[in-house]
Amino acid sequence: MTKQEKLGISIKKTEDFSQWYNEVVIKGELADHSMIKGFMIIKPRGYAIWEKIQHNFDNRIKKLNVKNAYFPLLIPESFFKREAEHAKGFAPELAWVMDEEQKEKYALRPTSETIIYDSYSKWIRSWRDLPLRLNQWCNVLRWEVKQTKLFLRTREFLWQEGHCVYETEEECEKEAKIYLEEYKKLCQELLAIPVIAGEKTEKERFAGAKRTYTVEALMPDGKALQMGTSHNLGQNFAKAFNITYLDKSERKQLPWQNSWGISTRLIGALVMVHSDDKGLVLPPKVAPTTIVIVPIYFEDKKKIIKKANEIKNMLKNYEVVLDDRDDYRPGWKYNEWELKGVPLRIEIGPKDVAKKQVVLVRRDNNKKEFVKLTQLDKKIKNTLEDIQNSLFNKAKKFLNSNIVESKNWNDFLKYIKNRKLVKANFCGNIKCEDEIKDKTDGATSRLIPFQQPKKIGKCIKCNKEGKFLVIFGKAY
Ligand SMILES: [Zn+2]
Repeated sequence: MTKQEKLGISIKKTEDFSQWYNEVVIKGELADHSMIKGFMIIKPRGYAIWEKIQHNFDNRIKKLNVKNAYFPLLIPESFFKREAEHAKGFAPELAWVMDEEQKEKYALRPTSETIIYDSYSKWIRSWRDLPLRLNQWCNVLRWEVKQTKLFLRTREFLWQEGHCVYETEEECEKEAKIYLEEYKKLCQELLAIPVIAGEKTEKERFAGAKRTYTVEALMPDGKALQMGTSHNLGQNFAKAFNITYLDKSERKQLPWQNSWGISTRLIGALVMVHSDDKGLVLPPKVAPTTIVIVPIYFEDKKKIIKKANEIKNMLKNYEVVLDDRDDYRPGWKYNEWELKGVPLRIEIGPKDVAKKQVVLVRRDNNKKEFVKLTQLDKKIKNTLEDIQNSLFNKAKKFLNSNIVESKNWNDFLKYIKNRKLVKANFCGNIKCEDEIKDKTDGATSRLIPFQQPKKIGKCIKCNKEGKFLVIFGKAY
């Protein structure tokens, strides 16, 4: 096998999507498998993407007066038992640590509602303490039994979890939706991934929540991916953790709470949605390297490298790599940077130096263009914007053309089999939803879109009165 063959992706995206995904993640140097089953190693290029996501979202929530804090990794067993639904929902996924001396059992956090709300019960005294808005960036652990997949399904993953407390139900509900809207913007504006926003059905709701809101995206293999969720917890946890406050008339009240999260699985979505048979394709706003300069030289190395460095200095606003490694040929370098998803490549050779120009190559569509050095800065700015937009538009077109509406059960089965997202009237009954899942080999309700028709027809499965229009589909 030649060096060239080893470097590239050996499987086509359309042939074996799952294998292709794994190769793109590993060869694109985003992550690696670990020695411990179900755990992943995030490599620098993958972590750099996470840092961009963090930076973007952290700025958004700070503008909404959310502050960052950090709570312990271990959660006492007794905390888990306090909110019954929550305990039931997470029990199968918990990993435990024993403290032999104290004879206490602690869970490694799968989410932090319980430990954070224990503190809230001590911190919140009066209406003056509200609203309280905290966020935590951390790792969580869920002992998944299903087959694991890099970024998408691992036992440990990184995320943020926001936890807010309010005096009124209105405020709580309003802000739960604001955080969801921020997730939507993050997905669409930074990651160039179009999403649909809505509410989860009762069956898919977060354990212990009153309502769960979600943004869902469609992957190229026809499976939906939950990108972020925001939960209106009502007063369930306030009751369970005895969080109370004195209102302005000195009366004791239960506050209202929401919690919300996104995780490193967003990186998995990013890879699946945009990448191709040559490897990673990354939207410029989230790419760890924006531009790579590849000098092409023979005897005139000094002159070319000097010019390449001048160009690099011109482009200080971007993350630029000058690949001046002597032991690799330009063609090999092109392949490597394409594999790593660098959005723009600048090639510069002796003829270009003479003509005061460079060759600019786009990763997303391979278009090559000669650009005069005097025009370069402006051209790059416009091209990066265009790449970001066209990746989004391409994904949006795919999403729109794969949502279908179904009025009868046979069509519904056919569409699900063809990996479409199917809009259908639904009664809201958990048993009915179980049956749909059963009969479709695992399709679930993804969400109740916020935009609902005025009149809802009969349920697609049981023919009883429909409650809302739901989008069903297979999901990660
Ligand atoms: Zn039904």
